[in-house]
Amino acid sequence: MAKYIFLTGGVVSSVGKGISAASIGRILKSRSVSVSVQKIDPYLNVDPGTMSPSQHGEVFVTQDGAETDLDLGHYERFIGVELTQASNVTSGQVYSSVIAQERRGDFLGGTIQVVPHVTNEIKKRIRQVAEISGADVVIVEVGGTVGDIEGQPFLEAIRQMRKDEGRDNVLYIHVTFLPYITATNELKTKPTQHSVNELRRIGIQPDVILCRSDKEISEEIKDKISLFCDVDKEAVIPLVTSETIYEVPLLLEEAGLGDFIVNRLKLEAAECNLDNWRNMVAKLKTPKEPVTIGLVGKYVGLQDAYYSVREALCHAALAYDREVRIEWLDSEELDVTSNGKLRQVQGIIVPGGFGYRGIEGMIKAAKFAREKEIPYLGLCLGMQIMVIEFARCVFHTENVNSTEFDADTAYPVIDLLPEQCGIDQKGGTMRLGTYPCHLVPGTKAAQAYSCEVAYERHRHRFEFNNAFRQTLEEAGMTASGLSPDGKLVEIAELKDHPWMVSCQFHPEFKSRLDCPHPLFMGFIGAAKETLTEGAQTSLPIS
Ligand code: GLN
Repeated sequence: MAKYIFLTGGVVSSVGKGISAASIGRILKSRSVSVSVQKIDPYLNVDPGTMSPSQHGEVFVTQDGAETDLDLGHYERFIGVELTQASNVTSGQVYSSVIAQERRGDFLGGTIQVVPHVTNEIKKRIRQVAEISGADVVIVEVGGTVGDIEGQPFLEAIRQMRKDEGRDNVLYIHVTFLPYITATNELKTKPTQHSVNELRRIGIQPDVILCRSDKEISEEIKDKISLFCDVDKEAVIPLVTSETIYEVPLLLEEAGLGDFIVNRLKLEAAECNLDNWRNMVAKLKTPKEPVTIGLVGKYVGLQDAYYSVREALCHAALAYDREVRIEWLDSEELDVTSNGKLRQVQGIIVPGGFGYRGIEGMIKAAKFAREKEIPYLGLCLGMQIMVIEFARCVFHTENVNSTEFDADTAYPVIDLLPEQCGIDQKGGTMRLGTYPCHLVPGTKAAQAYSCEVAYERHRHRFEFNNAFRQTLEEAGMTASGLSPDGKLVEIAELKDHPWMVSCQFHPEFKSRLDCPHPLFMGFIGAAKETLTEGAQTSLPIS
């Protein structure tokens, strides 16, 4: 039978609840306790797939094709697990399901209420993660902060879980923030006390209080929190802002959280072994020679929109004993003049995206990379951009595009497949989740992967248009990764370029600190050899 750890948030959001949940998963795993994780998002959207990255950050895609919260990326990267759609629950999903049951007549004339119908549906979804994963412990992070209106049914459901599952099988961790007052040079505990009171009002007494702060937390402060919030002093866990997020499991372990959880939940656990993790963090914190990458996108002011890309770059750089420095370049204001930032980068990456805004800037960046022989990695939209730019050069016209951006273009090199036409819904109607990709021997992509078939995660509607494949291949582009039937171009690369490789999928979701992704390795490997001025040669394509 699985045991459950519930994380709630207090005081303010964005204090690292997701990283904490992921880190707790890592410290349990390092004791040979198997773990799965679930994120509860109380908003009414069915999934974040229809939300703008400016509202919600990156949409993380699971192997089974769910469009989920970016916290699932932390869980996968920290714990080394592959999660499923069951790991992200929203109010939208819960209410849709309860209402569908009501319409079917499943409730036999009953009145449908938040308690018990909605809370039962929530508990069913929490237990589903335990059933699917067979994990010893399921960590459930409740998004938002205590007191949010949408969060109430979820808090009520997790309150009921302690009674349902038994006291030894459920643990509540409340993550709060201790503000620092400069004038008096002190950390304040009052907001934490208030938020614990709010939690108690709902019927939840936290077992652990995780206190995020930007300053060291004194014994006195811990005593105070322990007294006012009625938790053991050893369960007041400080979480002081660290240099890297990957250090958090080490900090929580040092603070004794691993042992506390094991004892309180009476878990069968091995000795904690975080040696590998500790070594990687030490390597990460050692100053290293930088490799500078230009990331060209339209949400560069909001780096959460490209979270997994940033992490994947960092993982690959670490494997080469380098530190990645990212120049965030706004595609709407791209400057390719002699002083432009683009001229100072050793590699260019164009990540995924939707809609026309910023597209022409990305095309300029791809042209710059091609002509100046700067390594380029295109991710999903970034591949479509590379193809459009190359085809504009081959066909000697600007009238080449994806039909996503120009429905009437003369050369629709990126287009919908005939079977996709007629889709009129926006949510969940893309090519989503893992698909196999056969690597074409002798290509840069095959060299990077050194295997025959890769399994990668997709999230897009538009595809490479095969009507132009032969012409573009003859002009110097290679389809180096293909679907098993050979019909879908999954990876494209340029022959006469040091490293210009793009993929229709999102490799960033599969990269780990201890297992960087092959395409990011290939890209950083080429970029670190590049002089910032770039080789000033143009390719003979015209
Ligand atoms: N907008 C493009 C498409 O739908 C690319 C999507 C993406 O980059 N994830 O095909």
